[in-house]
Parts: sequence; structure tokens; C-alpha cells
Amino acid sequence: MLVDEETQKIVKIIALKNSVEHGGKAQIDAVMSKLLGSRPDLRKTVKEVMPDIRSIVAYVNSLSPDAQRSLLAELSPGEVAKKQPAASEPALPPLKDAVQGKVITRFPPEPNGYPHIGHAKAVIIDEEYARMYGGKLILRFDDTNPAKEELEYYEAIQEGLDWLGVKPDIIKNTSDDIEQLHSYGKKLVEADGAYVCTCSQERMRDLRAKGLPCECRADHATAMDRIKKFFDGSYQQNQAIIRFKGDMADQNTAMRDPALFRIIEGEHPKLGKKVRVWPTYDFAAPVEDSLDGVTHAMRTKEYELRNELYFEILHRLGLRRPEMIEFSRLEFEGVPVSKRKIRPLIDSGTIESWDDPRLPTLKSFKRRGFVPAAIRKFVLSLGITLAETKPPFEALEAFNRKIIDPISPRLFFVRNPVSIRIDGAKEASLVLKNHPTDAALGTRQVSVGDEIFIAGDDAASLRVGDEVRLIEYCNIRIVGTNKDAISAVLAGDEIKQSMKKIQWVAKNDIVEYRILIPKELYIGEEYNTNSLEIANGFAETFASKLKPDTSVQFVRFGFCRIDGANAAIMTHR
Ligand code: ATP
Ligand code: MG
Repeated sequence: MLVDEETQKIVKIIALKNSVEHGGKAQIDAVMSKLLGSRPDLRKTVKEVMPDIRSIVAYVNSLSPDAQRSLLAELSPGEVAKKQPAASEPALPPLKDAVQGKVITRFPPEPNGYPHIGHAKAVIIDEEYARMYGGKLILRFDDTNPAKEELEYYEAIQEGLDWLGVKPDIIKNTSDDIEQLHSYGKKLVEADGAYVCTCSQERMRDLRAKGLPCECRADHATAMDRIKKFFDGSYQQNQAIIRFKGDMADQNTAMRDPALFRIIEGEHPKLGKKVRVWPTYDFAAPVEDSLDGVTHAMRTKEYELRNELYFEILHRLGLRRPEMIEFSRLEFEGVPVSKRKIRPLIDSGTIESWDDPRLPTLKSFKRRGFVPAAIRKFVLSLGITLAETKPPFEALEAFNRKIIDPISPRLFFVRNPVSIRIDGAKEASLVLKNHPTDAALGTRQVSVGDEIFIAGDDAASLRVGDEVRLIEYCNIRIVGTNKDAISAVLAGDEIKQSMKKIQWVAKNDIVEYRILIPKELYIGEEYNTNSLEIANGFAETFASKLKPDTSVQFVRFGFCRIDGANAAIMTHR
């Protein structure tokens, strides 16, 4: 062998790693690119050492997968430990009092908007636990406010979950159980655990702040008379509500006689105008969880103070208690997830649609080129901690990059293009690899002559005398720079470490191309008016032939998802 022992060992390790990661067969291209990346000194002698490398790779590929793993462990013990899937994917902690086959979890979204990354966190955790214990996941549309809910959103949530690959075992609506909920409400009043209050909203708020009761709560006979009227249509919206009989002076303000039912006129997406009396979340959640057989109810931490109420309602109604588990809300810096912050932007037309790439909706993540597997990995990497820190968006990007990098063709896009005339360059037809290591992604043909375009930023940095590498083409030396035209001459083919390596497009092979770059939607509490950057330039014509939804990497620009003819959206760098 020409290569020394140390190099042989390195090649063996790279080949073994590549093989273990790719189903037992190392690929020569992948091994070469890894090797030259870590040992640039070998570039000069590539031709000579190639046969050695081929024979090492062939040797590795002749071993059984088990033999490959044990040889890798012997040569590089650290590598094997690193590659154990269990170690890189933290499992969720066990659930308290969980019985195999009996765990039931539920995801209860309100169909009042499009599902977002926060919902993904909740539903993925719910689903993972159901699967961990061979149990069931319920998707329960929490639809008890006809003023806010619409059919469109039931569908959007369902679609979002489908995309995530979440498969609920049971799908239902809280509104399916409206009669039962009504009868539990009446029962609670009969048992003196709740009463009908006819005070104005201002008065209720005022007394609640002062910790004082109103007259309505005192007299049970009045409550019994009013409860009939509450259900028979005698009251109008806002004239009366049913309140929990808690303690108006409780330290926990959630226990200061919160509303359990209110009258809402309006067309319910499932029940039309048939029903006017609607439970609040505080009442519907515990009763539904209990009736649905939920064993482990999970929700975000901001409901913590409401847990006492949740369990007290179940206690007064003699209903079974689920375990309650809290986790932190998922938010990113600069990207609020709450519908409260997003809806006004949509309603005012500032943002056109729910799939705008700046939004944290699942529709937007899909449109940007994030893949569901990355979202799941990211969510599981967060675990169910209560810490309120916002994870960096880059963490999600890193999971996504790892998945799309091996399958995204590498293409050229030049932003704010500047022309270069290359003196002496002949018409040529180049065959470019679509991926540096995966030959399965194919090649493309580019015909190039003596004029190319490079990105404006690159052009601005060039000086007369500079030698640059046009990636996968040739070297040029700059002989003249003008504001918007540069001239150059051919400068050989040897790739030097010191050379700047830039992407380019051939004049004969360009399309005008536009890439949307989503930025932070909010800066502090203010909407960021520069939240959507637009990069205009030229791409290779090959890019315009790709179908929408394809992920590509525009070299030295970033990963993008094709979004239509001659347009893409930046996924991340
Ligand atoms: P929004 O602020 O968007 O209205 P919400 O909590 O009112 O959020 P729901 O549709 O009621 O939205 O939420 C359904 C479930 O998703 C709840 O269990 C809730 O705890 C969970 N959830 C909502 N937002 C997040 C988030 N940002 N992070 C984690 N879980 C969330
Ligand atoms: Mg809500």
C-alpha cells in the first residue's frame, strides 16, 4: 500500500462509520469526501492513493454488519457509543402509576385557529406516552365556544396532525357530550357546589379582586330556581353565568368562583343553534377527561393554578381523577406561537395566510421545508421539563438539516448577479453532480460559455489578481473589475486550500429566481416590518424544473424548499 498505516486506519474508520450508518455498505464517494475533508494534504496525491482506498472500502464492505460494528468499536471505541440511537434520542420519563395497555392520553385543541409548533409539542408527547404503554391517544376537539370556532379549523388541525404522522386512536368533540355536560352542571348546582350569578361582568371582576362574595351565591333556593331558567332560555347572553362555589378570598384566585357555564348565542360549527349553554374550559376539561377514561392528562404549565379547581370539580361530582402532568409551553425567541399574537396579523392583512413562512404554524413549517421527523426529534429532545426557557430555533434547524442534507440536491443560485467574462473559455457542456456523496441524486448538464454570473456579494470582494475556484468548474484569475462587469482569465484546475470557492451560473442556463427568507416576526413586542426578506437573482434552469415541495441546497446560500415556478423559500442555512 502507498498510504501509511495511520492513514489506512483513518480510511478504515471512515468507511466503517459510513457503512454502519448506511445499512452495511460504505460508499466510496462518501468516504473520499470525508477523508479529503479531514486530510486536505491527500488531495495532491488523490490519483495515486485511490486504489488503496478502494481496496479498504471493498474489504469493509465484505464484512458482515456485526463484524463491521465490532471492528469499528475496536478501532474507534468513542464512535460506537456516540452512534447508539438510544443515547441520542432521550426517552420521556416514565409516567406515574402507568399500567401497560391501560394508558389513555388526550390532545384537546380548540378549533379556533391553525395548529402551531406548540400544539405539535403537546400532541407528540401525548402520542409518545400512549405508544410507550401500548395505550390510546384521543384527539378531542375542545369546541365549546361557538363565537370562536369554525369547521375550517377542525380540518386544519386534523391535517396538521396527519402531516406530523400523529394517529389518534379516537377522535371526538367535547360538543358531542354537551347533554352530559349540562346534566353534570345541573347536578353540581343541586349539590350546592355551584350557583347562577346574575351580576354584571364589572361587578364580578371587582368583587373577585376584592375577595368578596355577591348575593347570588348565598341562597340555594334561588340557585335552584335560576338553574331552570338558565337552561330554558329565560336569560340572554351575559345576563347570567353558572359559577363554581369556591372561596372568594382564596389565595389561589382560580378558586374565586370561576365561571363554569355561559350563554353564547351563535352558530356552532357542529351543533348549529341548537345549544346556547356552553361549558367553560375549566368545567369541560376535567369532566371530559374523566368520562373519556383519560389516565394521564397533560397540559402546559400556565394551567398550574387551575389544577386545584380541576380536581375539586371531579371530587364534587364523584368522578374519577386522572393524573395531571405539566410541561412548559414551547415558544421561540421572536416567533410568538399564541393565536392571540398571530390572529391580529392575519385579521389586519399584515400577513396574508396561515402558511406564511414567518409563522410558527405547522402549515408554515411544511411550506418552508421542515420535515415532521425533525419536529418530533426536536420535541423529544426537549423532554417534558417545566423550564420556561425558549429553546433556540437553531436547535430545530439542526435536526431538520441532518435529515434533509443527504437528500437535497446541491444547486447554484446567485443573488444580485454580476457578470464575469472569462477570456478564452470555450463552449462546454458540463455534467455536475447533484449531490457530493449520493450518486442516486443524479447529475445535471450545464452548457457554459465565456460568460457566467456570480453573486453580488462575491463580486464585491474580488480584486484584480485574485484566483477563485468556480465550484465544480474551473479556476479563474480576475483581470479587471468594473462596477457591474468583471473580466477574468482561465487559471487551471488545481484546487488550492487558499482559494475562495464560489458558486456561479452560466449565462446560457439561467432563470430569474426569487427566494423568500423568513426572519423573526416580532422584535420584542413589535411586529418586525422587515420580517420577510426577498432575495432576487439567477438560478440554474434545472431549479425551475423541480416540483414544488422539493428540498434543495443552494450552495453557499442555504437549504430551500421549492415553492412554485422560479420561487423558493429558505428553510434554514
Ligand atoms: P393558543 O395560545 O394558541 O390559543 P391554546 O393553549 O389556547 O393556545 P389550545 O388549542 O387550547 O391552544 O391547545 C391545545 C393543547 O395544546 C393544550 O393542551 C395546550 O396546553 C397545548 N399547547 C398550546 N400551545 C402550546 C405551546 N406553545 N407549547 C406546548 N403546548 C401547547
Ligand atoms: Mg385555547
